[in-house]
Amino acid sequence: MPRIATELARRRAQQLYRRREILDGPQGVEPRVGGETLLAFCSNDYLGLANHPAVVAAFKAGAERYGVGAGASHLLGGHSAAHHALEEELAAFVGTERALLFSTGYMANLGAVAALADRHATLFEDKLNHASLIDAARLSQATVKRFAHADMARLETLLAQTSGEKLIVSDGVFSMDGDIAPLPTLISLAEKHNATLLIDDAHGLGVLGEGGRGTFEHYGIAPRAPAILMGTLGKAFGSFGAFLAGSEELIEYLIQEARTYIYTTALPPAVAEATRASLQLVQAEPWRREHLHMLVQRFRAGAARLGLTLAPSVTPIQPLILGEPEQALAASRRLRAQGILVPAIRPPTVPAHGARLRITFSAAHSAAHVDRLLDALSGIGVSGNSV
Ligand SMILES: *Cc1c(COP(=O)(O)O)cnc(C)c1O
Repeated sequence: MPRIATELARRRAQQLYRRREILDGPQGVEPRVGGETLLAFCSNDYLGLANHPAVVAAFKAGAERYGVGAGASHLLGGHSAAHHALEEELAAFVGTERALLFSTGYMANLGAVAALADRHATLFEDKLNHASLIDAARLSQATVKRFAHADMARLETLLAQTSGEKLIVSDGVFSMDGDIAPLPTLISLAEKHNATLLIDDAHGLGVLGEGGRGTFEHYGIAPRAPAILMGTLGKAFGSFGAFLAGSEELIEYLIQEARTYIYTTALPPAVAEATRASLQLVQAEPWRREHLHMLVQRFRAGAARLGLTLAPSVTPIQPLILGEPEQALAASRRLRAQGILVPAIRPPTVPAHGARLRITFSAAHSAAHVDRLLDALSGIGVSGNSV
């Protein structure tokens, strides 16, 4: 296929070629990469649970009890007591009637959006929504209307122009910018214009709110109709999988209609057991969130002293926007030379001219780690652009 060679050559020429780092051990803030121990600021393991002994122990015990593979889809014999218990515990945690497990957040978004919006419906998407929500729109065949990032006036205009079924979809915390969606306005617009609202809280869950219930708790709002919550378990929970949370009726509907729920193997029950252990920790150890927010504040204060322009984010996602791919790559390489791992994020993951260092923090970082990052940043000659 000529397309393959052409596309690879284009990516190389435009500094958009992507490569993977190989980790020799567990996820953590000091991963072993190619025989070297690095200080990493790039994982979404925000609470430091991916390698927590209690989570690992629950995973092992789960494997002893249930084996490795679920062996079937949820509807055809693969739905174990571990999955079921996790669903009940997640629903109780976020405060909805029910929750439904999906194998990944990507699949949860594809399945939910396609089930909720058919080709007669209209979807409203924030332009910075996660790729899985963009792909979900394509799959659903609904009419898609995109609005500029967090532009609620524009969203209202679009809603007012539209009749028929409406579904608004938005990240709760935007994955590459770290800012929080204007949830109260999204909800009132959904109510006023008879729309359903799907909030993808991949980066808010576990992190925001006193109890870690995410963007909804951050605003003191319960996740109930017209809002639906999608949460992922591979980020702050340090595990794997995702869920949709809502009413009894919504979940029963998704069990019937969501194709990415029906036509795929259930995730390994041991993973569900590990997630149950991490859900316990998310609730029992609020110090993880407190420490994390302290680190974010320390970083932002230090960055301000260095004259770095950061995006307006209060979450553990702290992007330093540099502009062109080569600028972000050069900055990433200079940090790497000092033993610090912060990959460059380039288009199409972020908009053109928005290449950046996406710096993320974890409760497993120490204040000294943050200071080491600040020191390294001060020595590499970057300043950051405002968005
Ligand atoms: C990571 C992410 C997803 C996908 O979740 P996975 O479980 O990793 O597939 C969906 N939405 C957002 C905003 C994400 O950041």
